[in-house]
Amino acid sequence: MRVYLDNNATTKIDPLVKVKMQPFFEELYGNPNSLHQYGMEVRPALNEALGNMYDALNAPNEDDIIVTSCATESNNSVLKGIYFEYIAKNPDKNHIVTTSVEHPSISDTLMFLKDYGVDITFVDVNENGGISAQAIKDAVTDKTVLISMMWANNETGIIFPVEEISRFAKENKILFHTDAVQAIGKVPLDLTKVHVDYLTFSAHKFHGPKGVGGLYVKKGKNLPNLLHGGEQMGGKRAGTLNVAYIVGMGLAMKQAMKHVEIMNSKIRALRDRLEDAISQLPDSFVVGQTEMRTPNTLLVSLRGIEGESMLWDLNRAGIAASTGSACASESLHANPIMSAIGKDPELAHTAIRLSLSRFTTEDEIDYTIDVFKKAAKRLRAISSTYAYTNAVA
Ligand code: PLP
Repeated sequence: MRVYLDNNATTKIDPLVKVKMQPFFEELYGNPNSLHQYGMEVRPALNEALGNMYDALNAPNEDDIIVTSCATESNNSVLKGIYFEYIAKNPDKNHIVTTSVEHPSISDTLMFLKDYGVDITFVDVNENGGISAQAIKDAVTDKTVLISMMWANNETGIIFPVEEISRFAKENKILFHTDAVQAIGKVPLDLTKVHVDYLTFSAHKFHGPKGVGGLYVKKGKNLPNLLHGGEQMGGKRAGTLNVAYIVGMGLAMKQAMKHVEIMNSKIRALRDRLEDAISQLPDSFVVGQTEMRTPNTLLVSLRGIEGESMLWDLNRAGIAASTGSACASESLHANPIMSAIGKDPELAHTAIRLSLSRFTTEDEIDYTIDVFKKAAKRLRAISSTYAYTNAVA
């Protein structure tokens, strides 16, 4: 059996999305900016796709959705755009508040901007892996121009207080950006109720194609272009449009929002079943309260068992999981959020992330529980760290 439980890293394409994209690789390959029939005939699909994205976010038509190549580009565009549009023009307002557990496309970009005089406060997670709204508010100064905070964390699934902070930002005339990559299709989203100025998303995290993402921009909060050289995307991002991928992202987003209920009932129940079984193993530790997390994610640590060892045991049995963010996996880093929680340094090396999708089945979860229990028993038996820890405890 093969079981894919690494859906926070990427997801499989929804079969409906694949079918919808196919004609745009074959007969419908015109450039939508061309004036001939080939160009004109793809435009309705493009409009439909953008319409799907506006509907999925419940975003007013006067706001912008700019299609990008990925969430990394969207995050770079917001932060560098704000630097050029606001900070470079008014260096007195050069402060940005963010969290210490953002994706590297936020944290690395901010570190880059630091060299250009941007002052950054990274607010730490609390002992449960959450972010306190008060800590964000306390970090704000009269120089703060932007708060950037992810909607849900990619490693723990913990949902951050976006609604409250968006209200606070609006009241205090501070720009607010949220990286909603891990929230789409998992939590209800309604931009008429949450006051975000910028919101990032990425198709491959919700069963769309890789290599396409988006940036929502509220009316009046325009950013300078990162890519110049064409009039595409209303003049806001140059480059020939990748119609097939945009069509795919539009349908994938519509499907993702249509399945939010299922994610929060059927898939949440499967995740909870997996979580309950793993929690019963001795010395296990699940990060974050169940009800505060996205319904598909479980980050668990088993004392004495290296995360990588568990990963390889699972992999041998056909199960794909992760020790945390795929972006850090090449260097086999300790799990950054576990380090941030910092309760116990060992936790950082023993974390395993299991992330489900709406395509995950009951049989797959039952199989995973069985394999996980056997692997834990085998690895505990051979783990000298565990023996040592117990001996000194
Ligand atoms: N932001 C978050 C929270 C993510 O989890 C990821 C991917 O793991 C990204 C941004 C980057 O997404 P992309 O692969 O589309 O650049």
